Amino acid sequence: MRILVIEDEQKVARALKEGLTHEGYQVDLAFSGEEGFYLLSTTQYDLLLLDLMLPGRDGLEILKSVRKQGMTFPVLVLTARDTVEDRVKGLDSGADDYLVKPFAFAELLARIRVLLRRGRSEQNLRLLLADLEMDLVTRKVKRGGTEIPLTAREFDLLELLLRHQGQIVSREMIAKEVWQEVDRATPIDNLIDVHIARLRRKIDDPFAKKLIHTIRGVGFVFSEEAP
Ligand code: CA
Repeated sequence: MRILVIEDEQKVARALKEGLTHEGYQVDLAFSGEEGFYLLSTTQYDLLLLDLMLPGRDGLEILKSVRKQGMTFPVLVLTARDTVEDRVKGLDSGADDYLVKPFAFAELLARIRVLLRRGRSEQNLRLLLADLEMDLVTRKVKRGGTEIPLTAREFDLLELLLRHQGQIVSREMIAKEVWQEVDRATPIDNLIDVHIARLRRKIDDPFAKKLIHTIRGVGFVFSEEAP
């Protein structure tokens, strides 16, 4: 497995190369966007580790060109800018995952392993809406930077809502996807409503902006604006 690291801080880049090489990966380093882009156009990589803050062509620009040219390998973005907007921009521009600096090397390795295993079959290891963030690797949910403990069922329910944000999610869909319940002879609508209420208490009640909206008689919409 061959990884390209584009990172202008040479000390960081060399430490990454040393650690990843030790794990058995083949690693090339580029200290600028231009250098990185040249390597990308001449060598086949399985994964790109991309720093966002680069002199000259910055990480987001590189990311956009990479995807525009149809390169499909997973991209893990490294960012020092710990703001939701930058993460959303990164994911919108075609990143599969990101890590905020400073990070633990063990976490980087775990994320690289998952990305290489998944390839591009399933995008994004994190789901975002407004200041709510779901990490599918650690199964942690945060809102406004504060971790919100969820049960496994609540997590699955929220994941479904996040994956279909802005669309109507019916109780039937929830029954099927979250409870694997396809037999409508035994409706579990009450059970679903109880779980939605619990989720609401955890992720909406403490915050001014509500994300879960009920569409009477139909289902729910997960969005920043009330539908
Ligand atoms: Ca940098």
